[in-house]
Amino acid sequence: MPRAFPEPACAAADLARGLAPGFAERAQEHDASGSFPAEDFRELRGCGLLGLMVPEELGGLGASFADYAAVAGEMAAGSGSTALIFNMHASITGALAAAGHDLLADLGAADGFGAERDRLLAGAAAGSLYAVAMSERGAGSRLSHTRTSFARTADGYRITGAKAFVSGAGHADAYLVTAREDAGAEPAVSYFLVPHGPGVRVEPTWDSLGMRATGSHDVHFDVRVPASALLGGVEGVVLPLAQMMPQWLVASYAAVYAGVARAAVQAASTHLAERGLHELPAVRARVGRAEAAVAAAEAVVREAARRVSAEPGAPGTNRWVWRAKLVAGDTAAEVSSSLLEAAGAGAGRRGHPLERIFRDARCGALQPATSDVCADWLGVAVLDGDPDAEARW
Ligand SMILES: Cc1cc2nc3c(=O)[nH]c(=O)nc-3n(C[C@H](O)[C@H](O)[C@H](O)COP(=O)(O)OP(=O)(O)OC[C@H]3O[C@@H](n4cnc5c(N)ncnc54)[C@H](O)[C@@H]3O)c2cc1C
Repeated sequence: MPRAFPEPACAAADLARGLAPGFAERAQEHDASGSFPAEDFRELRGCGLLGLMVPEELGGLGASFADYAAVAGEMAAGSGSTALIFNMHASITGALAAAGHDLLADLGAADGFGAERDRLLAGAAAGSLYAVAMSERGAGSRLSHTRTSFARTADGYRITGAKAFVSGAGHADAYLVTAREDAGAEPAVSYFLVPHGPGVRVEPTWDSLGMRATGSHDVHFDVRVPASALLGGVEGVVLPLAQMMPQWLVASYAAVYAGVARAAVQAASTHLAERGLHELPAVRARVGRAEAAVAAAEAVVREAARRVSAEPGAPGTNRWVWRAKLVAGDTAAEVSSSLLEAAGAGAGRRGHPLERIFRDARCGALQPATSDVCADWLGVAVLDGDPDAEARW
């Protein structure tokens, strides 16, 4: 299997690269049955990768965003679904790890939150898996339209509502839930970390075109949580954080879909060689174009990731973040479509790796920020406007 991100590699990316062939072997079965890739996560837990973004002093690997991108690309070259579930977990742990003292102070975080944050991060390093429960039917990813609500109780909060598209639903130890105050007039949306347990019900609804093994089912919440479940101990941080850390809502998916695009090249090449089609000039040209497009997407993702690690939140960095999501999502869809045509109808049969990868790749442009939203953001920036002045979420 070719390395998804040839450079810069890191030890964690080497670990992920070692696991990817096993992910690929099991991916067909999980895609067909829509089942959670439990063995993949057993292995990820076993080699400490659930602690990828957790600082070393809390037992994790202390990875940078650039390291994450390399790891996600390697994983996705084996299984897009596994990489996408992992992306959700990495987004939560990565954002928590990046929420240093200054940022917490800017957001008005409660005094005790640092300790709670460390407890959550240490939990991930010890093997806890976190899932993202933000999207809702009817609202999609428009976080400002969130209808899930919270009300204060004597010792914490009661959260009620229904979430959709929750990758890893039923297999996560806790969910990052977005909710707004029941009686609140303002669209101030807050983050809660809700443990899986009583009051959390998974409705198995996920039967989708691609990324079928993510098990992104609906999850219903009617749950009471202690006050410490409110992340940061401060309400209304969701929309400001979306603008301050676009890497976790926008660019982290890009690494996954660049890896899926790389997997398409690999699956097509294997098929073409087996069928003896690799000697046809038209076929070779499609492979050549695909390879160049994937390498270009990887380079954009790598540059965005490098800048996020070096200068997070800077205007120049953010522009690369939106570019990366657009380029990776579109490249995955275009390359897998072209290569399926080169490989022929035989590769379109259920059970053929390229057929699965083609469907997985189609999800890249659809996941928020969608390609259209990314393109609009970039267009406004190029035309000297302020792309963040408009409500994106
Ligand atoms: C494989 C997969 C896994 C997922 N996993 C998770 C998960 O773990 N947790 C989670 O919370 N969600 C998850 N999602 C859901 C995802 O984050 C989105 O919320 C969801 O895809 C939105 O779908 P929608 O049909 O409502 O479309 P929307 O995102 O609402 O898009 C519909 C249309 O509106 C356009 N549009 C959307 N927003 C804007 C805007 N701001 N400005 C202009 N146009 C806009 C889009 O371009 C598109 O044309 C997942 C989705 C997929 C496909």
